[in-house]
Amino acid sequence: PYDVLVVGGGPAGAAAAIYAARKGIRTGVVAERFGGQVADTMAIENFVSVKATDGPKLVAGLEQHVLDYDVELMKTQKAVRLEKKEFVEIELENGAILKSKTVILATGARWREMNVPGEQEYRGKGVAYCPHCDGPLFKGKKTAVIGGGNSGIEAAIDLAGIVEHVTVFEFADTLRADAVLIKKANSLPNVTIIKNAMTTEVIGDGQRVIGLKYTDRTTDESHLVDVAGIFVQIGLVPNSEFLKDTLELTNRGEIVINAHGQTSIPGVFAAGDVTTAPYKQIIISMGSGATAALGAFDYLIRN
Ligand code: FAD
Repeated sequence: PYDVLVVGGGPAGAAAAIYAARKGIRTGVVAERFGGQVADTMAIENFVSVKATDGPKLVAGLEQHVLDYDVELMKTQKAVRLEKKEFVEIELENGAILKSKTVILATGARWREMNVPGEQEYRGKGVAYCPHCDGPLFKGKKTAVIGGGNSGIEAAIDLAGIVEHVTVFEFADTLRADAVLIKKANSLPNVTIIKNAMTTEVIGDGQRVIGLKYTDRTTDESHLVDVAGIFVQIGLVPNSEFLKDTLELTNRGEIVINAHGQTSIPGVFAAGDVTTAPYKQIIISMGSGATAALGAFDYLIRN
């Protein structure tokens, strides 16, 4: 068996693997797609100590660093089941079963998409999902935020300090965000909130986003607004479906962890965007990967 088996090859999984391997213990990584969300990222300007980089470069760096150590990297392999027996067992889609004394789950998350024409075409060309990451790219420009839940209203407040104007589009007739956030957003002169709005299309000029079409659900009329950026804030879905009924998840599907990255199953740790750790960022997931690996090592020397 492995000492540490990491499931996931994003920043959290890579950091966990490096920290584990540096303890001289048998370490494996199973990843459906090495690099994770970072592979889809254009500009990265908040990876502290590296002023600017891009996703593919950072992914190449992660892989090189992992392979610098004695890590068994199993790429394009998907975990479909976890079971704790004598060891923790991870079953792969191809039927293979991997055994390990400890497992670190770092399967990340995915942004829920609008599924409207133009969204995929202009992803990274105006369509964005992370205000902390991409907000500054729209400095002085008009932007839209899709979704009036907490993350949408937080994004609007955040962006209002950077961009010229923010319009929030909410599908329902009420906002689901906390009252204190709504009050704050309403107090900002450059934030407009439109309810009963069904977004229907992302409009671009072939290079970049130039507008957004939506239908007013009360009148059925279609409108076009000029925006350079569209922040989609309709949910971040943890990749934890295969863990349902095996360990403790929140109602949103996040794996519940303690300060050491320990889950509800002894010997099973978790890190990064798939967990309850707040703020989903590269540097934060790396930190939590390191924590989980040290947590797993602690567990190993005590058991
Ligand atoms: P992920 O990166 O999601 O990696 C998950 C890994 O698990 C992948 O390897 C995946 O293939 C694998 N996996 C999933 N399910 C399974 C399974 N069942 N079996 C095996 N493997 C599995 N953050 C910043 O700090 N700065 C930025 O500029 C920035 N820009 C972003 C831009 C975009 C477009 C997106 C989508 C995100 C951005 N983020 C940014 C957020 C950042 O990418 C994430 O917070 C970070 O990647 C989370 O790391 P993670 O390792 O927890 O998960």
